[in-house]
Amino acid sequence: MEKNDEFYKSLLDNLYDGVYFLDRERSIHYWNKGAERITGYSRGEVEGSQCWNNILMHVDSEGKSLCQDRCPARNTMESGNPAEAEVFLHHKNGHRIPVSVKVSPIFDAAGAVIGAVEIFRDNSDKLASLSLIEELEEKAFQDTLTALPNRRYLERYLMARLDETSRYDWKFGLIFFDIDHFKSVNDTYGHDVGDEALKVLARTLTLSSRSFDIVGRWGGEEFVVAVVNVDREKLHQIAERYRRMIESSSVTAGEMSFGMTASLGATLVCKGDTLDSLVKRADGLMYQSKLAGRNCVTLG
Ligand code: GH3
Ligand code: MG
Ligand code: MG
Repeated sequence: MEKNDEFYKSLLDNLYDGVYFLDRERSIHYWNKGAERITGYSRGEVEGSQCWNNILMHVDSEGKSLCQDRCPARNTMESGNPAEAEVFLHHKNGHRIPVSVKVSPIFDAAGAVIGAVEIFRDNSDKLASLSLIEELEEKAFQDTLTALPNRRYLERYLMARLDETSRYDWKFGLIFFDIDHFKSVNDTYGHDVGDEALKVLARTLTLSSRSFDIVGRWGGEEFVVAVVNVDREKLHQIAERYRRMIESSSVTAGEMSFGMTASLGATLVCKGDTLDSLVKRADGLMYQSKLAGRNCVTLG
């Protein structure tokens, strides 16, 4: 197959990572779609500007600028050696994004360095999960039975997402789960088996969740998942998937094994929502699923 420039351009555009090329003066010559997605800056806003005086403003983990004497791209062009760094760049909306950067020199036919290619990857998930673990280590935020984030943690987390929504208009969804006829599980098999069932559900939800969504125990036999980066349709698909995962899980107690279902309410955050209004809406939708016969999702 003959591969033309368009082929390579589309290949670069379809990478999940951000990619750009710098010449020796550190002018930016190419900016792929991954870079647009991670930084919020379009190609037209960036191409032609210089990496050290433009909008990206790389800083290290202490917030100190790298652009003057510690620029990874400049060091690579001077030494001819590839380099890797963990830095923070500037998002168009103003916040800092943690990224892993790899810079490689580009040589001409005579072996002289004519520029560098920089590839960067959004690290926010990694950092978020590390800080989640640290926070949960203060046991005040962890549910002792299931090891999931507890209600206290979830309330703080949701407040932060609501704050983000009001500043940047970033949408997220909330799914509220309540196990169906859970009282009869306790009555039939005993409280310890009921506890085991809650642990099974916690594992099912955690293992079915995307790495950037948060699963927690709201209390009793009620769980919630905060779902980021979704629209209505995607939220519905995700909720349905959780419902099927729960329906197909089973709890084993001695010789016996039984299944479990849950009723779900799913809603996207609305303008002006408070923690209370958001959770009440999701809880109300879950209740409608109970009225509709249980083991179903109501989207609102
Ligand atoms: P519905 O389908 O209407 O939700 O019926 P349900 O039986 O699940 O509803 P109800 O709210 O009446 O019962 C919830 C039960 O969950 C009652 C309570 O004893 C039990 N439960 C709450 N927390 C725990 C727990 O930590 N361990 C155990 N084993 N049971 C719990
Ligand atoms: Mg309940
Ligand atoms: Mg219940």
